[in-house]
Amino acid sequence: MSKIKELGEFGLIHHLSSRLKFRASDSVLGIGDDCAVYPVKSGVYEVISTDAMVEGIHFKLSTTTPEALGRKALSVSLSDIAAMGGTPKRALVTLGISKKISVSFLDRMYAGFNEISNQFKVEIVGGDTVSSPKCFFINVSVIGEAKRVFTRRGARPGDHIFVTGTLGDSSLGLKLLNKKKKGDHKFLIERHLDPTPRVHETGILARSRINITSMIDISDGLVQDLYHICKASKIGARIYEDRLPQSLEFSRICSGNSISPLPLILNGGEDYELLFTLPADGVKNLNRQFLKAKAIVTQIGEIVLKPRKISLEMRDGTTKTLPQSEGFNHF
Ligand SMILES: [Mg+2]
Repeated sequence: MSKIKELGEFGLIHHLSSRLKFRASDSVLGIGDDCAVYPVKSGVYEVISTDAMVEGIHFKLSTTTPEALGRKALSVSLSDIAAMGGTPKRALVTLGISKKISVSFLDRMYAGFNEISNQFKVEIVGGDTVSSPKCFFINVSVIGEAKRVFTRRGARPGDHIFVTGTLGDSSLGLKLLNKKKKGDHKFLIERHLDPTPRVHETGILARSRINITSMIDISDGLVQDLYHICKASKIGARIYEDRLPQSLEFSRICSGNSISPLPLILNGGEDYELLFTLPADGVKNLNRQFLKAKAIVTQIGEIVLKPRKISLEMRDGTTKTLPQSEGFNHF
């Protein structure tokens, strides 16, 4: 019998899901993507996902505000709906309340929930409150709707790989947040504490005629999440160092403090950007569609035949094979 720590997050999910024997006949997707998917009426699917955040693992009460915590708890769940091409509709919130949590803390956290709920038109329709002996935790489940569902399976050799936004900001923000001497790094710290789920951007893609062949949101880091697409689609990927999108603030702080940017961009995690693939003939249309979006899109590489192998072409012309990182091992 293996230990949970040895299994890691994905090993544990696989281990547990293999125990489950009942499957509803109308399930389109069960465990193994960003959401489960099932049809609700002709041409419309429901997509459903849940995400928990635990004090001491996902956040510290000393480095965030209750408002930001509420915003993030809902946003990260919305990001999984976005990763499937869905529009979020309703959410359930469960709180594990420890002794140090006050009503005024919760009021402020709910102000954060309200902002995201209004912004993305998601109604919070229920949940549960329990007491938790030590650590505060929040679990948010979200149900959304999709007419077209984007999954991790379907990328084909020759497809172009795109990401929205910029990479590495969140993990650099976390690094700065944990520093004793804090400078003014509002942008990067906010990218960590208050990420924007790419709901509008996935809506643009879902309404377009672009043939999106696979999609995931970047929660564990670019390489780890690209690996999920490679594994599900049975293909590999080649990405280019000089195309990986960085914010000006990220580049400035990295170069000013001798921080190596590449590990943060490749494995940092919690960017909550969309990573997706499409055939070359859709690229022009994609760029046209994104002229009106808030987030940029960048082509970072191509899908290749070799299964599960991700290679990185460096600026100096050399090529590295990227090991599948373990992502963030909570256990
Ligand atoms: Mg996800």
